[in-house]
Amino acid sequence: MEILNGKDLSALIKDDLKCKSEQFVQTPILAVITIGDDAASAVYVRNKKKACEYVGFSFMHFDYLSEVKESVVIRKIKELNKDKTVNGILLQLPIPDHFDVDKIINTIDPKKDVDGLTTVNMGKLLSGKYGMVPCTPSGILEILDHYKVELEGKNVCVVGRSHLVGKPIAMLCSDRNATVSICHSRTKNLKDYTSKADILIVAVGKKWLIDKSMIKKDAVIIDVGINSVEGKLYGDVNPDVEEKCSMLTPVPGGVGPMTVACLLKNTYKAYKEMNDINE
Ligand code: NAD
Repeated sequence: MEILNGKDLSALIKDDLKCKSEQFVQTPILAVITIGDDAASAVYVRNKKKACEYVGFSFMHFDYLSEVKESVVIRKIKELNKDKTVNGILLQLPIPDHFDVDKIINTIDPKKDVDGLTTVNMGKLLSGKYGMVPCTPSGILEILDHYKVELEGKNVCVVGRSHLVGKPIAMLCSDRNATVSICHSRTKNLKDYTSKADILIVAVGKKWLIDKSMIKKDAVIIDVGINSVEGKLYGDVNPDVEEKCSMLTPVPGGVGPMTVACLLKNTYKAYKEMNDINE
């Protein structure tokens, strides 16, 4: 069984971006907006800031209390849209329920939408004309490509159908000529689908939802889940699959670091497009 090491791969990507950014006249800037007090988000934002600093990008953080008026956040995004020095804008999710999350996200200029969550970028993904592709699905493809996991003709099962992970990764795998099934909370007999998958991608948010009895022998398992239980992180996949699968992303150290690396890649892509840089 081979561990798909997202931590090492993300370090390679970051080092490449660090080398490139040393040549830049202007520093790429990523702006992150947070609303309210979410403990997990605070950790994710800190990791994004650290990663930006490592590669030499500037990081701006606009941290609002949950009582902030939606119009204040919208105004800030419009200001950032206009600012030619800002390349990437990201709304850290989740935000408190009383906000219209779609409205806020769709205020972001699609060219600066480094999370790829605006309707414009989602539509581009669906039509195969990729704009900004969401970071976690991009990170998963980078891992599969790096470890030479072929998608064409394979049965891929994606468990979870969120805008952030499940739907886009299903679409991307289908575009790579895999046969994709998408499972979710209302799927009956989940095991019928997971056990046929050559590549199983799990993005649910339930500790150890999938165990070895539910997978095909020699399957490649991508565990996206991050579940914090009593201060420890667990994936959606029980480590007992190690006896049966051929490849597995660990939690932590698998998909998580790749998501951050792909966020930096998207920020760099936005920077290049805004500055007419061709490589
Ligand atoms: P989400 O809550 O938006 O979606 C969860 C999906 O799981 C839904 O589509 C739901 O239908 C499905 N689901 C729920 N219970 C199910 C069940 N019993 N069987 C089958 N499907 C079920 O979550 P999300 O934003 O897609 O995140 C999923 C997980 O991935 C979370 O643990 C999150 O923390 C993690 N995540 C990790 C990264 C990373 O970088 N590693 C990035 C994003 C999300």
